Amino acid sequence: MTDKQAAPAIGIDLGTTFSVLAYIDDTGHPISLANAEGERITPSAVLFDGDDVIVGKEALKAISTEAPRVAEGSKRDVGQRIYRKTLDGKQYPPEVIEAFILNKLRTDGVAQLGDFTKAVITVPAYFDEVRRKATQDAGYMAGLDVLDIINEPTAAAVAFGHLQGFLRPEEAARKTQRFLVYDLGGGTFDVTVMEVRGRAFITLATDGDVQLGGYEWDQRLVDLVAEQFIRQYSLDPREDPSAAGRLWRECEDAKRTLSARSKAAATCDFRGKSARVEISREQFEEGCRDLVDRTRFTTVQTLSAAGLEWGDLDRVLLVGGSTRMPMIHQMLKEVSGTTPDSSVAADEAVAHGAALRARLLLDRMNGRPSTFQIKNVNSHSLGVVGTDPQTGRPRTGVVIPRNTPLPVTAKRTFRTKKADQRSILVQVVEGESPTPDDCLQIGRCSVPNLPRHLPMGTPIDVLFDYKSDGRLGVHVSVADTDVQIEAAFTRENSLSKEHLDGWRSYISGAEPTEYR
Ligand code: AMP
Repeated sequence: MTDKQAAPAIGIDLGTTFSVLAYIDDTGHPISLANAEGERITPSAVLFDGDDVIVGKEALKAISTEAPRVAEGSKRDVGQRIYRKTLDGKQYPPEVIEAFILNKLRTDGVAQLGDFTKAVITVPAYFDEVRRKATQDAGYMAGLDVLDIINEPTAAAVAFGHLQGFLRPEEAARKTQRFLVYDLGGGTFDVTVMEVRGRAFITLATDGDVQLGGYEWDQRLVDLVAEQFIRQYSLDPREDPSAAGRLWRECEDAKRTLSARSKAAATCDFRGKSARVEISREQFEEGCRDLVDRTRFTTVQTLSAAGLEWGDLDRVLLVGGSTRMPMIHQMLKEVSGTTPDSSVAADEAVAHGAALRARLLLDRMNGRPSTFQIKNVNSHSLGVVGTDPQTGRPRTGVVIPRNTPLPVTAKRTFRTKKADQRSILVQVVEGESPTPDDCLQIGRCSVPNLPRHLPMGTPIDVLFDYKSDGRLGVHVSVADTDVQIEAAFTRENSLSKEHLDGWRSYISGAEPTEYR
């Protein structure tokens, strides 16, 4: 099969505010594909209008008039059972909303590139296991076959490597380079320290905040304008969802203007009253200082977790639309002593890196050699809930500490507490706290069918298999025997296969397939 006949290599950046689909063209370069509206960037907004579900620009516009029917920022709720708003009278899991977005990208892509199902999707490096699984589920419900889930900063670094020519075979012996990728998008912040050794992209440390992004900066402007409006009219426009939606769009626009100019204005209309509020860049920066400081703190900590100092880095790479704000450049310049590099397309680099990864995986499936390698770490410690022998209270036992290179397997041995015990329940959590309640509950691994007549204290091995994409597998065996036990790993807040298949056929019209 020639490349032209083969399925296209597709990478998708499923963003909080915008999403991008990219493919690899015949010359091996990543290209962002325009959607049906002719735009390369699709707003991650979904309008629920009776039986019609509209994704993208039209849905984003509808925030000004029909806010209660529009879902935006669903990525921030991924991992929760239900999206924060009831939409047109219905509740949706956040990954279902994401599936509608992916389905639009897929159908617009198929119309131009021909049929495909295989794609690589990106997630913030700091996404936990539950959010990664939910993203993979969103892909499944959108009729996709998700080849891999890769981290956004890694994808951006791969895109950068492609631009710089690192991926060419003759570049394999190039000296090791170290990057810090600072990725501030619409809804999430990630910082990742990477090493590029030959053509291997190795993550050394990663950290971030899944509730910190351009939204927070927008919100500061919204509050500033709303406070001015209240002073003038004793009315709060934020009380009404559509007025709040209009104000948010005005402020997001003003924020972009403030990246280029020293002043911007936002207009607020509510209950027949109107106010035009001018904001200076200085005022905006003052109002957002704590947000910038939060990212500075995490950046410095991550560099130190990687065991490096600023002088060890070859560059600080900027990714994500929010890095266009001058306050971010200034802070990074101050703290690193170098000028950050914004040579990759802030909005498109992630999708490009994902498409390059898809090309590599498809080539590998066809027996062709790999052009580059990705080595990832886990962004959160993985643990099991045990009992503190001293206090008798529940306690997290770390099985795989954070920033461990992936893939990794780790074994934990549990002992039966009585003779002929028939079942064991292992609670799996992610997080850094010794108190399980402060960690994220990933799920429960129940071993219901232990062989009969095991004596008290029989060791049972539970094997945690953390894959390169940050997804987890759990296997159980009776220690020192060849008895393998089918462990049922029940996830918290995850849709059942039956629900996934139902949504898959509703959203994308695709048949169910094998899916774990
Ligand atoms: P991303 O998820 O990387 O596409 O980033 C989207 C975020 O970048 C949104 O919060 C946008 O408001 C923000 N953004 C895009 N362009 C600019 C700009 N010129 N100045 C400030 N923020 C921007």
